[in-house]
Amino acid sequence: VQETLRQAQKIEAIGQLTGGVAHDFNNLLMVISGGLDMLDRQTDPNRRRRLMDGMIQAAQRGASLTKQLLAFSRRQKLRPQPVDVAAQIGGMRELLDRSLRGDVHVEFDFPDSLWPVEVDPGELELVILNLAVNARDAMPNGGTILVRGENLPDLNDEEICGDYVRLSVIDEGVGMSPEILSRVFEPFFTTKDVGKGSGLGLAQVHGFATQSRGTVRIHSEVGRGTSIELYLPRSFDLPLSEQHLIDLTRVRPK
Ligand code: ADP
Repeated sequence: VQETLRQAQKIEAIGQLTGGVAHDFNNLLMVISGGLDMLDRQTDPNRRRRLMDGMIQAAQRGASLTKQLLAFSRRQKLRPQPVDVAAQIGGMRELLDRSLRGDVHVEFDFPDSLWPVEVDPGELELVILNLAVNARDAMPNGGTILVRGENLPDLNDEEICGDYVRLSVIDEGVGMSPEILSRVFEPFFTTKDVGKGSGLGLAQVHGFATQSRGTVRIHSEVGRGTSIELYLPRSFDLPLSEQHLIDLTRVRPK
């Protein structure tokens, strides 16, 4: 069931993403086809140059969009590995800006040396995208989404014990009543209009956290905002990118 849910959620997220991207592509194609049309009639070399620069830019933007979509849809099997969360999420800036609205800003707050965690990096990105889209939907008049990472050494309560990384997505949106809050992890629970919400977002987030041997906690206050916190156990292995660097230095001839 978890696997089916994950797949469904992935398809849903890709659907959301492609909807936005299709719109962007349309705009880019308008720039290019309109530009070609004008180029055909334009004789002034400076104006021709400017038209061509605009079209080249539009084409490059389209290529980079395609690359992102491909990277997103190619991921299939969960592959947990030590991940540098700050770098992984930092690389999502463009994707996030694209998936949100102009009046919603994303801020990152990561310490210099956030511990690595053992997760599937693609799944982590999907989690952050889901949480950011929920935060956006909770802020119809815009606002700021803060994505924060913290090292929490030596935790010890009934649920978690040891060193954890806490990853929080904090919004200043409408918040949730206790009734809603008690149901948010239920698959297919949604308060959104038909076609707007699948009710699978937080179910996916919860599945991701528990599969990564962590947990999710939510603080929410109606009218003030929501903070969704993922607790993920610290990994004592180096992130693969850094392992790679070390391997390179090892093989370097003296
Ligand atoms: P969906 O977003 O498709 O509705 P989710 O499982 O992601 O599904 O969320 C379930 C419900 O939880 C949402 O419909 C909404 O009512 C509530 N919710 C989730 N995130 C937030 C948030 N950041 N602020 C307020 N309500 C939220």
